[in-house]
Amino acid sequence: MIASQYLATRGKRSDIRALSETAGQLALKIGRENVYDFTLGNPSTPPPQEVEDAIVDIIRGTDDLVAVHGYSSNAGMDSCRQAIADSFNRRFGRQLTKDNFMMVTGASTGLHTVSRALHIDENSEIMVIAPFFPGYYPMVACGGNKMVVVPPDTEHFQINFDELEPRLSKHTQGIIINSPNNPSGVIYSEETIKKLAALLKKKSAEYGHAIYLICDEPYRELVYTDEVVPYIPAYYNNTIICYSYSKSLSLPGERIGFVATDNNIDDFDDVWAGLRGASSDVANVCAPTLFQMVVERCVDVAPNMADYAHNRKVLREAFSRIGYRFADPSGAFYLFFQAPFGMSAEDFMDLAIKRNVFVVPAASFGCPEWLRLSFCVSRHTVEASIPAFEALYQEAREAMGKQPVPL
Ligand code: PLP
Repeated sequence: MIASQYLATRGKRSDIRALSETAGQLALKIGRENVYDFTLGNPSTPPPQEVEDAIVDIIRGTDDLVAVHGYSSNAGMDSCRQAIADSFNRRFGRQLTKDNFMMVTGASTGLHTVSRALHIDENSEIMVIAPFFPGYYPMVACGGNKMVVVPPDTEHFQINFDELEPRLSKHTQGIIINSPNNPSGVIYSEETIKKLAALLKKKSAEYGHAIYLICDEPYRELVYTDEVVPYIPAYYNNTIICYSYSKSLSLPGERIGFVATDNNIDDFDDVWAGLRGASSDVANVCAPTLFQMVVERCVDVAPNMADYAHNRKVLREAFSRIGYRFADPSGAFYLFFQAPFGMSAEDFMDLAIKRNVFVVPAASFGCPEWLRLSFCVSRHTVEASIPAFEALYQEAREAMGKQPVPL
């Protein structure tokens, strides 16, 4: 019944939202502890203590609550932007100032802004690399641009250059990259970034205009291995960073992030004039002042990752043992796996829903045979779901006409 309610909405609404609402309705009927809802990328850990302390401190310590809750300038408070610049300088060895940053209401607004700023004419294109965050569809479209999808490298989940290069054209204004990646969790290696930078330098020269690398980085700090997330402007000057504190500081509802460029970007003043204008176009009046004050105090605070790390470990072990094929998540908080035995992702999802397991088929992420599992959930949800994933694997095997094997 509930599954068919979901099926009725398929194709008309965001898969993720529709599935999560269906899971929520089921939880009301049978109890939250009996539903394994892996749909949303909503952090399941509270913000770090420093964030809570900063909020209380700011509210209690001020004699000007009007200012705390008032508008800031469009670009954001000078002191907040300078604190972020200082943090970049410490971490990446740069020489940035507040003028390299504009505060926005989350990465979504940052990406809408950049898409809008890069709209040149009705042929303008922005490229995305599968698998990608489905939020890019409205962001690219809202800017007035066409979205060009680069098919995935399902072996390593790096960039498939054989597919990317032929899709570049004189209309390509920007390429969105997202690392650590939602949904694969993979970090683009330095080698990948160098190769991409060299290609874009060559093509920008050929077309006579910059192709911007738009780095969507809400998961930059959510890394479980010793892999380094390259600082992209060190490899490619025409880079625009869109950052968010939604995931790193568990603040998605507060809507706080920034757009940044390094000093080495071509035509710095023109780029920033474009970004500021576009930010007004997409109604980024200002980022919340209270949370700019919080960020100013918490620029170097590390994310709360203990639960995510635990869930990742349990899932990697279980999925390997059972036999699922998945991208190894070095960062973010998603497990991206292939529907087994050649089953379609939608059919696997249907089987899963019957066991009260909700995972998202990844057609809208540009990767049709795959599914995304968000492990930003309680430890209980992950641990208690493993028998269901074991059973689902056997069911998929039987449904696809293969003999079951004992686990
Ligand atoms: N980019 C990616 C890759 C995301 O996963 C998300 C949210 O899930 C966003 C952007 C949007 O983040 P924000 O809450 O900052 O708008």
